[in-house]
Amino acid sequence: MDPVSEIKARLPIEQLVGQYVQMKPKGRNFVSLCPFHNDKHPSFLISPDKGIAYCFACNSGGDIFSFYQKVENVDFPQAIRELAERTGVALPKRGDAPIVDKDEKEQLRSCVEAAQKFFRKNLVSSELATKYLGKRGVPAALIETFGMGYAPDSFSDTYQYLLKEGFSRKEIIAAGLGIQKELSEERIYDRFRNRLMFPISDMQGRIVAFGGRTLGEDDAKYINSSEGPIYRKSGILFGLHLAREAIRENKRVVMVEGYFDVVACHKVGITNVVAVSGTALTEEHARILKRGADAVVLCLDADRAGQEAAERAFHILSKEGILVLAAEITAKDPDEAAQADAEDLKKRITDGAKPYLDLVLGQMRSQNLSRPEDRRNALQRVLKLLSALPTAVERQQYMAPFAALFGTTETALKEDLGRVVVTASQNSISGTAASVGARHAVPLPSSGKSFSPSPFSPAEISLGLFVLYPRLRNLLPELIAPEDPFGAALYEALKNSDQGTSDAVGALRGSKSSPQATMPLLAPEHQERLSVLLLFCEQHGFHEWSENLAAGEIRRNCQQANRTTILVKQRDVMAKLAVARKEGKTVEEAQLSTQYQQILKLSKMAG
Ligand SMILES: [Zn+2]
Repeated sequence: MDPVSEIKARLPIEQLVGQYVQMKPKGRNFVSLCPFHNDKHPSFLISPDKGIAYCFACNSGGDIFSFYQKVENVDFPQAIRELAERTGVALPKRGDAPIVDKDEKEQLRSCVEAAQKFFRKNLVSSELATKYLGKRGVPAALIETFGMGYAPDSFSDTYQYLLKEGFSRKEIIAAGLGIQKELSEERIYDRFRNRLMFPISDMQGRIVAFGGRTLGEDDAKYINSSEGPIYRKSGILFGLHLAREAIRENKRVVMVEGYFDVVACHKVGITNVVAVSGTALTEEHARILKRGADAVVLCLDADRAGQEAAERAFHILSKEGILVLAAEITAKDPDEAAQADAEDLKKRITDGAKPYLDLVLGQMRSQNLSRPEDRRNALQRVLKLLSALPTAVERQQYMAPFAALFGTTETALKEDLGRVVVTASQNSISGTAASVGARHAVPLPSSGKSFSPSPFSPAEISLGLFVLYPRLRNLLPELIAPEDPFGAALYEALKNSDQGTSDAVGALRGSKSSPQATMPLLAPEHQERLSVLLLFCEQHGFHEWSENLAAGEIRRNCQQANRTTILVKQRDVMAKLAVARKEGKTVEEAQLSTQYQQILKLSKMAG
């Protein structure tokens, strides 16, 4: 078996996808919220027997490799390497090279790992760092859990160490650990000097970067590794790999601002906690959180910046359909709160967390809103917050209390809100929603149902039906051979397949023979699309039709496909004809005219 097939055989799609989303069984398949778009209902379909996970709302997904590429943001070779490693499948070595050419990202990961070892060794021998951690009340076990370290007070110790470990200067810079101040300058400086070091890991727990807290007088209290091939701030949450288990249990995640806040939460027994590292919360962060959690508890700093961050987080998280709660703390941040009263902090974060809007309501009630401009600003803020709520039901809950707060009626507030919501949804239509555009409408035998735009053309739909209903393959000549690579290959395969002997529909309905066994033979590069096509057919119940109904739908789709094909051909020949005429190429012109006549004939036949 080739490595790709072997990896597929060893890693079932549901096992891989289950590591990223919460799946629920549905018939012979599983469903989950789609990890690739802002999904409100479970649109992501995972089909164990087709080896496919796909979202027909945003048309993303595919087999294990396509899924892994998209969810981990890696290219195909990288996906093969990583999945081969996970499944223990040996990959053939390239050429006769004596040393296996290590992938760049892997090399950079080894580099940051080596750096972490160096930092940890230094922490043990640094009196300054150990004293500091003692002062902040970090127990030894948590220093261990988080793998904290210390970057020495030197411009080149780390760099020199990594060079000795066999990493190149280019790698040390790409790993975000070295700085070249001037391109012309040879010298590399250590990015982290005299700092307490927090390793930042990706979801698999692989270290990708560091955050460093100064132990000296540096103006920048915290700095992070620079972004590079293995570290994108917008896709990394600090502490997530340690939180995954607890998030799965709680379906909640606590969000704090700093590294020490995450540590403090662990100290009081809250482990479903993360922090963004070196950036503001992004939509990508929100989507990552949504894979495991239904609600986020914001526990940010009590200062103005923290409040602004909370408001921003509310908007981003609500837009993704996540319930946003807030925990009010009495100290400056969770870290100080934990030192003051650990039990109290724990209570405030767990039982004490309230919906964010309740908190806003409470704050506004205690504010003096008698000045018209204050009232107006407060109203603007409330309208924005309400319009960010994912459902009308949730919005309705807050109508009465906010209307009372502003001394107005629910109707008036609703009217104002209506204007904000309409503008917001218009914006989204011109943005992402439109790009998931309809290519072709899908035929529907039973009217009244509605579903999302099809990713498949009528030609592909009819080919899918030919796969499902082998006895109807005598209708194949009614379809003009498609010209796109996938359509052409499937058409050819169907033409050469046995007619009427196998029963894919029976197999799909659950009889013993596998639907794959009745599949026409296709080149590997087309098999994934065929599986997605068949999943689409199954999803819409095409396999449950009577043969009569199927024959009718095949004809309808063939006709629609033919009309498109003919139109394209006509345009093509006409354009060529015009050129030939203009250039006086009479022989060519005559040939093209004949072709045009043939197409017209074809078009009459196709109706
Ligand atoms: Zn999707």
